[in-house]
Order: sequence, then structure tokens, then C-alpha cells
Amino acid sequence: MRILVVEDESKVASFIKKGLTEESYSVDVASTGPDGEYLAQINSYELLVLDLMLPGKDGIEVCLSLRAGGFKAPILMLTAKSALQDKITGLDSGADDYLVKPFAFEEMLARIRALLRRGHVEGTAPLRVDDLLLDRVTRRGRRGGREIPLTSREYALLEYFMRHVGQVLTRAMIAENVWGLDFDSESNVIEVTLSHLRNKVDRGARPLIHTLRGFGYVMRVEDGP
Ligand code: CA
Repeated sequence: MRILVVEDESKVASFIKKGLTEESYSVDVASTGPDGEYLAQINSYELLVLDLMLPGKDGIEVCLSLRAGGFKAPILMLTAKSALQDKITGLDSGADDYLVKPFAFEEMLARIRALLRRGHVEGTAPLRVDDLLLDRVTRRGRRGGREIPLTSREYALLEYFMRHVGQVLTRAMIAENVWGLDFDSESNVIEVTLSHLRNKVDRGARPLIHTLRGFGYVMRVEDGP
């Protein structure tokens, strides 16, 4: 699940990013209104966290402009002011919910989960590919009765594969959707995480994750020889 955070206070932005990353979300950060709007238009996000007071273009303007352009993902507006008028203006501009700063991270997480559930009915339904089952509430995998413990990155990677069964996923797509835009492309963390994931998921079973040399990876059920 990919989330865009548009927030100009770097401390707040990195606090949100750190917390959401630990929850297995892939997080991109923009620090101005125009940058946020641009990223929201060129990438696909499941949710937008949008600060109200931003340089360049404020949250209300960004929100109005994105909605006018057909942007569908839920928007959680952040505001430092608790004035009722801001809340009304924010929600009128197309935001789905708002949060008054300062807030506890758990509160933000609860709002985000609620918005994702509302936006995508399938958001928390378990995913199944062949005999592999992924519970998106407990974040545990299970294959043929065997419990599969997952780290938060492994979970995010497996969920990404399972949501795109049969589709070739390039390294760049995986980097963006599971790690985020600031991913260091020289790093071998994708290969390492993938290798751990394959060990856990495909060990002693029919392989589901396949390498397509020169292209990327695909999750699919292949018939036996
Ligand atoms: Ca701000």
C-alpha cells in the first residue's frame, strides 16, 4: 500500500514516514503543495496525507485541484488549527477526514486504516494465491497449514505480489511500491528481502514467485512438469 505524505515540517514528515514504514506502508514525502500535487498525479497512491498549511499551494487548493482532476484515493487532511471553519473548508474541498496537530501516531493510523477500509472494500480481506493465504489484519502468511512469520518489509512485498498475480513486476516497480521513492537503487535490499521471502513462502512447496531474467519477477501458479 503506497501513501503520499505532503508535509513541509520535516520533523513531522519524518515522524509520519517512520511510523507508516514500520506498519509496512510504502511512503513518499513531498514538502510543498505543487510537489505533492505533481507526485499524486504521476504515481498511484492508495491514500494521501495532506497538510493544510503548505508552501506554494495550500492543502485546500491541492485537494480541490486533485479532485477536479479525478483523483480518487482518500485524503486525510492535517491541520494545526482546530478551528471549526478549517475543518468544514477542508472537508468541502474533497478531503475525507482531518486530524488536528499535534496528534498521537496511533490516532493517525486508526484514521488511515478506516479510510483505506472505506475506500477499498477489499482492503483488509485475506489474499489467496493457490494454497498461500495472507491475512491482512494479523499480517501473517499461511501455506498448506504452515504458519509463515513475516517482517514488515516481507509482508509488504508479499502483499504487493499477491495483489498483482500474473503481472510482471520490475525491480523499479517493486522499489517504488514497497520501499518508496527515496529508495537507493544501488542497494541489494530487494534481492535480500526477496530471497528471505522465497525461503519462507516457496520452501518445500510449488514455487509461486518466479524470476524472469532481464524483466523482473512474477507471482503465478505454474503447472507441474
Ligand atoms: Ca505546514
